[in-house]
Amino acid sequence: MPEQSARLVFSGRLVMVGFGSIGQGVLALLLRHIHLTRERVLIISADEQGRAVADEQGVAFRVQALTEQNLDETLQPLLEAGDFLLNLSVDVSSLALIRLAHRCGALYLDTCTEPWPGGYTDASVPAAERTNYALREAALALRAELAGGPTALITHGANPGLVSHFVKQALLDLARDLLEDIQQPTTRAGWARLAQRLDVKAIHIAERDTQQAPTRPKRMDEFVNTWSVAGFIGEGCQPAELGWGTHERHWPAQAAQHARGCRSAIYLNQPGAATRVRTWTPLAGPFLGFLITHAEAISIADYFTVSDGDAVVYRPTVHYAYHPCDDAVLSLHEFAGRSWEAQTRQHILMDEISSGRDELGVLLAGHARNAYWYGSRLSIEQARALAPHNNATSLQVCAAVLAGMMWAIEHPARGIVEPDELDHAEILALAAPYLGELVGAYGAWHPLVGRSRLFTEQVDLDDPWQFRNVLVS
Ligand code: NAD
Repeated sequence: MPEQSARLVFSGRLVMVGFGSIGQGVLALLLRHIHLTRERVLIISADEQGRAVADEQGVAFRVQALTEQNLDETLQPLLEAGDFLLNLSVDVSSLALIRLAHRCGALYLDTCTEPWPGGYTDASVPAAERTNYALREAALALRAELAGGPTALITHGANPGLVSHFVKQALLDLARDLLEDIQQPTTRAGWARLAQRLDVKAIHIAERDTQQAPTRPKRMDEFVNTWSVAGFIGEGCQPAELGWGTHERHWPAQAAQHARGCRSAIYLNQPGAATRVRTWTPLAGPFLGFLITHAEAISIADYFTVSDGDAVVYRPTVHYAYHPCDDAVLSLHEFAGRSWEAQTRQHILMDEISSGRDELGVLLAGHARNAYWYGSRLSIEQARALAPHNNATSLQVCAAVLAGMMWAIEHPARGIVEPDELDHAEILALAAPYLGELVGAYGAWHPLVGRSRLFTEQVDLDDPWQFRNVLVS
């Protein structure tokens, strides 16, 4: 257990919606670091999973699936001004919950902007509307409509979430090594100009999860993962999405652009779970990751845009490159072979894990030192020593939820906020005790290394960090 910091006093009620891998993992941390009255904590979840964990912590647990029809009548009587609504569910609209929290005067945090069921996969809806871009634009429109009010910190898990803070730390590290005059930016425009000055062309959210459970191999017709299977299936079925950088000169054949909004990102007319990209992390070396859509690919690209009037003069390409645990890769392969018909069984690996770690960070590339990765290396052994009911992946998320909740309690009237808008050092200091080693490392690898070894390929030799060189399929 990390050294106990002074507990933050929170006298309101805490209502947690959803109690899967993240809810169960975070509860003990919240009780450890925030002075909450256990009698004033209530968990509402669609099923029985986690009841024993709630009982163990002496916290009330109610099984009720929230729907569009019952949301207000269920939650409104439970929330008053100064309370906290923590959303760690799938299949419940984040925007509906934010509206409700705002109406009640309650603080709010989630780790993903979730739609109501079907929002990710309803093929009768145009692909552009099944994107995280559309969900984020709706959140930004709601922010304008609500105009302030109690803090609602959105998409503040590990990624989306922590990785936005990693990007700022990585930029400061690069500035230390590459620039003579460095001053930490204090505004969004200042951060964007720093990224431009450093000539960061691409940012990969590069993650390699090596956790494994050889005594419990994946079965046929089963999706195995180290966090929500439903959540991974949902986002894996959405179109692949990426922040589209100004250095790019090859438009992907399957790409499409949005007609409205900030236009920081594009999407591909194919599921992220079928889209593979080349990336690199310091421990894993080069590997193929899935370009799963995530809110951070859009918000980071937007945050680091430099404009001159209406013209965008700088923006990095930003996307996820995710190698989940090996059983999840097998699960994705089986899932794709079934034409995206979900397996009938799901399993989240937790106590059976015997080894491995989650290496999650940001790879800032294309600058004078080629590539710099900054992030968290957390092993299963470290995770177990730090907190109960966690694996390495869930604890990285829980650390961010804990830090985000503490930040929201201390800054209670900021309205809807994205991770990029927070003070990265403040959040990293709160989350760091649960992130294992926070490491920065340079790498010489780029997407052209070892290419055309077997066959001639269509590559852009002049700029290794063109998305064309990164995309596999
Ligand atoms: P999980 O699948 O383990 O659990 C989901 C929970 O939601 C369950 O308790 C389930 O009962 C509940 N639920 C489902 N439908 C509901 C309904 N209609 N009403 C109330 N509760 C309902 O998921 P998890 O791994 O705990 O993840 C939770 C959320 O966190 C997901 O949205 C996931 O995408 C997100 N997440 C974010 C990150 C990140 O780094 N940002 C990482 C992991 C998970």
